Amino acid sequence: MRGFVYMVDKHPGLWDQCLRKIEGKIEADTYGTWFAQTSSSQLDARLALIEVPTSFFVDWLEEHWLDLIRSTIKEITSWAPEIRFSVKKNPPASAGAPLDFSTSDDSAARTPAPPVEPVVQGPVSEAVFPLNPRYRFEDFIVGESNQFSFTAAKSVAESPGATSYNPLVIYSGVGLGKTHLLQAIADHCVRNGTAGRVVYTSAERFFTDYLKAIQKQDTSAYVEIYRNADILLIDDIQFYVKTEACQRELLHTFNTLYQLNKQIVLSSDRPPSTLKGFEDRLISRFQWGLVSDIDRPDLETRMAIINQKAGDHGVRIPADVARFMAEQVDSNIRELEGALTQLITFSVYKRAPVSLEIARDTIKSLGRVKSMTSPAISISEIQRRTAGYFDISVEMLTGATRRQEITTARHICMYLCRRLTQAPLKSIGTEFGNRDHTTVIHACRNIAARLSTDPDFQVLVSRIQNRVQQFVSA
Ligand code: ADP
Ligand code: MG
Repeated sequence: MRGFVYMVDKHPGLWDQCLRKIEGKIEADTYGTWFAQTSSSQLDARLALIEVPTSFFVDWLEEHWLDLIRSTIKEITSWAPEIRFSVKKNPPASAGAPLDFSTSDDSAARTPAPPVEPVVQGPVSEAVFPLNPRYRFEDFIVGESNQFSFTAAKSVAESPGATSYNPLVIYSGVGLGKTHLLQAIADHCVRNGTAGRVVYTSAERFFTDYLKAIQKQDTSAYVEIYRNADILLIDDIQFYVKTEACQRELLHTFNTLYQLNKQIVLSSDRPPSTLKGFEDRLISRFQWGLVSDIDRPDLETRMAIINQKAGDHGVRIPADVARFMAEQVDSNIRELEGALTQLITFSVYKRAPVSLEIARDTIKSLGRVKSMTSPAISISEIQRRTAGYFDISVEMLTGATRRQEITTARHICMYLCRRLTQAPLKSIGTEFGNRDHTTVIHACRNIAARLSTDPDFQVLVSRIQNRVQQFVSA
């Protein structure tokens, strides 16, 4: 492909259309950093040639955003071209900070560094990101699924650095309240003055700020912000990896703050022990304090959330409708919020009060007919398949044996029943030889705790879960 850099885009404007779409899909800040400076010299059914300022962008986009780029091109054009990146020959002077670390390329040294915007302005308690005013403790509905994390978050907010929860690491799947809790901690500290200097940031921002500082060959402003925090909250730490230098920086920040008894709070989409690409010493530090997870909320919690959010919209939802919506949307709270907004929109559009009928239409329009998306599975099925996995009988699994390996199998099974069915704790207990619901709670806690520290155990549990679920859809 000689000279491909100079090819003229035969479909001008397509990449711009893709960019508009991408802009709507990701955080403004992320877009600004990674996409705003890209262009395309060729985009057709065969090849998408995307030009970026430096070779560092090539790595980063390939590693983190390739799927998004691919799906967006597909969405706009219905093509699935090969995607290639190339470094722009002469980035315009206004192109922002070149982030090239390659030693063979001295362009970064030749181009005068553009000014890097200051991250924190005004009072020191200002966050790196603006906090969402809706993300407060008062707006957080507490249920069994998030009770533990909520309580830990509150303790930390009340006495940052002074509890044994340092760092506090909260992990969960998407849309279950990590960002909400982290920002609630920050908000509480600011409003009640429990910490002088509150710094909330995303891992990605923490990382790009560092790159910019390095590029400017002056890390003093960066260090000033992050290492002088009284409480540092880093959201979505799983996005922070990349180079050794970055990890070293995170380690330094961590050590500095920790030694000064400053509070560190992190969120992650998985247990720290299973984070990929992190040095062991970082992972072990993540586990020095408290690691706490947020589970999917149970039906009661989902109903409470619907009622609260409807109240925010000034709408009252009849109990049967709230129940129906909560039953249908059980994946995460963000989806639940989306479904509720849709429901309210429908009712306004139809000029009719919120009703079961409108709720059914809403669910249909969202393509979420639950019996199709997540087939129901019963407790006894889960028991049968778990017992099958361990090659023991269901009687043994649910019986009174206290042999270690049987107890473990029993606890895993209870945990799976909890995760995969809507059954209340009480009925799970009943189906396990008439045990008390507190036994089920303890079992689930045990399993969750072990999952957060033991990767082999994670593999075991997900293997069993896969087997259980495979049977369902077959
Ligand atoms: P995550 O960061 O885990 O992906 P978020 O914190 O962004 O999830 O939560 C998604 C949405 O759900 C947010 O609008 C948040 O306010 C809401 N939410 C999550 N948990 C709760 C809760 N327990 N009570 C009320 N709203 C919640
Ligand atoms: Mg989040």
